[in-house]
Amino acid sequence: MASDSSGDTSLLLGAQDVPPVHEDNAGGASPFLLTSDHYGRAIPRILRDLGLPAGEMERHIAWDIGIAGVADALSQQLNAHLIAQRYSRLVIDCNRPPQAASSIPLISEATAIKANEGLAREAADARRRAIFEPYHRRIAEVIDRRSRDGLPTVLVSLHSFTPDYAGVIRPWHIGTLYQRDTRLPPLLLKALRAEAGLVVGDNEPYAVSDETDYTIPVHGEARGLMNTGIEIRQDLIAEATGQQQWADRLARIFGDIETTLRAQRLI
Ligand SMILES: [Zn+2]
Repeated sequence: MASDSSGDTSLLLGAQDVPPVHEDNAGGASPFLLTSDHYGRAIPRILRDLGLPAGEMERHIAWDIGIAGVADALSQQLNAHLIAQRYSRLVIDCNRPPQAASSIPLISEATAIKANEGLAREAADARRRAIFEPYHRRIAEVIDRRSRDGLPTVLVSLHSFTPDYAGVIRPWHIGTLYQRDTRLPPLLLKALRAEAGLVVGDNEPYAVSDETDYTIPVHGEARGLMNTGIEIRQDLIAEATGQQQWADRLARIFGDIETTLRAQRLI
C-alpha cells in the first residue's frame, strides 16, 4: 500500500507543486479546530490548469474566495489549530465523499471542467491519494492526538459562498451549517443574530448531509465532536479589510462560546 500510494503521489505532485496540507498554530491551546476544505486553488502542474481559462480560476468555482484570509486571522486570534487544503476543489473536492459524482466535478455552476471528463480510474485515485487523503488523514491524526492529550476538540469548518449562484441572489451575510450537532450551532446562531445588521442563515445557503459533505459528517459527527460549518458571503471578504473584520467578529463570538461551553462543562 505504501509504495502504491507514494508512486501515485509522485506522478501527480512533482517537486514544484506545493504540499496539499496547510497548517497554522499546530500547538494552539484553543478547543476549536479550524478546517478549510476550499482554502486554496492550486492545481498540480501536470494537470495544466485543467484546460480552463485563467478567469475561471479566479471565480468561486475554483475555491472559497476570501476564506483563506479569514481562516489565517481567526487561527491567530483564537490561537486555534488550522488545517487547510491548498488544492482547488476542481481537482478534487475535499468536502465530498470520494465516491460522490461531484468529487471530481464535470461541471461547476455553468462551467464544464473538460479535463475531468472521462477521467481514468487510476487518475481519479491519484488525485484522491495525493490531495484528499493526506488532508483528511491529518485532520484525523490531530483529533486523535488531542484526544490522547485530554484536550477537547470543537470542529469549525470554514467556507464562503458566492452572492449570486446561477442568477439567484443570496441575502445572507453568514450562515451556520450543521446536521446532527444540537449543541454548538444554536449557540452560534444566537450570537450571530445578536450582531447588528446581519442577515443570518440557518442551514443556508446549504445544509450539511452525508451525501454532499465529508468533513463535518466524518470528523465531527462520526466522532461525537461538537461541530459547525460556517459560510460567509464572498463579497464581504474579498479584500483584506473585510477578512480581518470577519475574523475579529468570529474570534469575539467564539471566545464567548468557549466561555459558555466551559461553564456548561461541555468542554
Ligand atoms: Zn467551501
